[in-house]
Amino acid sequence: MSESYETLLQMQKDYFYSGETKDIHFRIKQLKKLKKALKANEKQIGEALRKDLNKSDFEAYLTELGVLYNEISETVKHVKSWAKPRKVKTPMTHVGSGSYIYPEPYGVSLIISPWNYPVNLTIAPLIGAMAAGCCAVIKPSELTPHTSAILTHILQKTFEERYIAVVEGDVETSKALLALKFDHIFFTGSVAVGKVVMEAAAKNLTPITLELGGKSPTIVHKDAKLDVAAKRIVWGKFTNAGQTCVAPDYLLVHRSIKEQFLDKLTQQIKEQFGEDVSRNSDFPMVVNERHFDRLTNYMKDGTIIFGGRSIKERRFIEPTILENVSLDSAVMQEEIFGPILPVFEYETEKEVIEMVRKRPNPLALYLFTENKKTEQHIITHISFGGGCINDVVYHVGSSQLPFGGVGSSGMGAYHGKYSFDAFSHDKGVLHQSTKMDIPFRYHNTKGGLSILRRLIK
Ligand code: NAD
Repeated sequence: MSESYETLLQMQKDYFYSGETKDIHFRIKQLKKLKKALKANEKQIGEALRKDLNKSDFEAYLTELGVLYNEISETVKHVKSWAKPRKVKTPMTHVGSGSYIYPEPYGVSLIISPWNYPVNLTIAPLIGAMAAGCCAVIKPSELTPHTSAILTHILQKTFEERYIAVVEGDVETSKALLALKFDHIFFTGSVAVGKVVMEAAAKNLTPITLELGGKSPTIVHKDAKLDVAAKRIVWGKFTNAGQTCVAPDYLLVHRSIKEQFLDKLTQQIKEQFGEDVSRNSDFPMVVNERHFDRLTNYMKDGTIIFGGRSIKERRFIEPTILENVSLDSAVMQEEIFGPILPVFEYETEKEVIEMVRKRPNPLALYLFTENKKTEQHIITHISFGGGCINDVVYHVGSSQLPFGGVGSSGMGAYHGKYSFDAFSHDKGVLHQSTKMDIPFRYHNTKGGLSILRRLIK
């Protein structure tokens, strides 16, 4: 099997070297084709997402397809200017020459995607790859088989295999692909597998983008507008039943407003998802039994103040709020990735900073406050991938913001122009003049050292 992957990779490399994928008109045409194909298959994609995760049409459009349409439109509009060589300043020491940056596609990229937003997290990197002028081999998740199958079908029908290919399969397939010498790897998934990917990439010195996960804290300060905070946190936490890499993982609420805030939070769950969420036919399900068991076990790690019910046959877990959780418990060791929300209280900002710093750098951080000083204090004292003030998750939808982690939540970023950059190498080229030749750099120049000292300080 790995032999055929090798052949596929070679076929894509040959095609890449033909130069066709670098042509800017080709890139734009293919991106438009991609959008058309997604639109034409919206119904089938919706059905697959319903089967795999019980995603409603609303969630599917908001978090999967709508985002992609937007990304494609934005990319089609700007890719010509992103791809142009950029003239930059030339220092005094290089007078007479010109300096240019040529964005160059990496070549053939391997894109490995997870199951939680199986369409978005497969196609969004692909948009970056196509915009940059790369070829791509895609390995979608085996845990959402219906969605992976429809994606394979769409991409195979729309693109030639030498340009974009899909390889379905599990861990072994992923490992076999990772053993090959791709020109770039774009991986979205867990921290644990991120390490495996980085190790494999190191063997070939392949550049990588790692979009990983982690525990994203959400802080509600004493001066926050509590109604809107509760509404937005409930939306961001329980969309996709909490199976979102940037979902609020745990809450840190100021002691003085905690009781009041928790009332608003539970009220919001009922307003957004119904008095009895188990009767809400649009509430997403947990991806598989292993994750269902892992999540229901977390319920034992604290006092349930809302929710707590689960139905195994439907892989349904009720939005659940936990209190009295020990920081050493399992629910606080791992990324929750489900509809369970532990709540802690704090008194000072220092406590918040210390608590977050004890854990690996989060992928996202959210802060609700009306105080600019508090805002600046938290933003500048905690390292995190990205986030929001007075909102949750919404930053991900902006194509103007880089989306990515830092430290153990990942490396590199994408979305909008950042996606183009993620798949490009900025090649710096000095265009030297032959009409003049400034002598001071040559070994035989008289007084060369003193000129150098004046020019380079
Ligand atoms: P995962 O790491 O288990 O799997 C991701 C992909 O890697 C899948 O395609 C899988 O087949 C492959 N894979 C799994 N084990 C492998 C191994 N040992 N060697 C090589 N390949 C392997 O992640 P998941 O469960 O699909 O997704 C959930 C995780 O992804 C969470 O941690 C979440 O935070 C993270 N995530 C991050 C982002 C982001 O944008 N930063 C987005 C979504 C999910």
